[in-house]
Amino acid sequence: MCGYRKGSSLPHGGPGIAAGVAPSGTGCQECQAGGGWWFHLRRCAQCGHIGCCDSSPSQHATRHYQETGHPIIASFEPGEDWFYDYRSGAMTAGPALAPPRWHPAEQPVPGPQGSVPRNWESLLH
Ligand SMILES: [Zn+2]
Ligand SMILES: [Zn+2]
Repeated sequence: MCGYRKGSSLPHGGPGIAAGVAPSGTGCQECQAGGGWWFHLRRCAQCGHIGCCDSSPSQHATRHYQETGHPIIASFEPGEDWFYDYRSGAMTAGPALAPPRWHPAEQPVPGPQGSVPRNWESLLH
């Protein structure tokens, strides 16, 4: 018994982690496109999508999972090396991902610079 069930694979058939894929950028893709802001950043371990965490106003990392089925994210915060699996709702382990592993250390948290409202703390989820 190996647990594999035909037809139950992810939409793109991937294992959830593609370690060689570089991150999409230094900030949340959707927030940068729409003028939003984020608290912490998460990195899709399958396609490199950078999205904002569940404390952020728009929660784009979770939305990315819901839209694509990519099940595993890694922290994109400097120094953090944890992975999270949406399917199990638990932290998990993962391989070394393609650099850069995290957003630039000088990038402000929350970010991006200039788009964060003064009362951001009261806007967190
Ligand atoms: Zn976002
Ligand atoms: Zn993805």
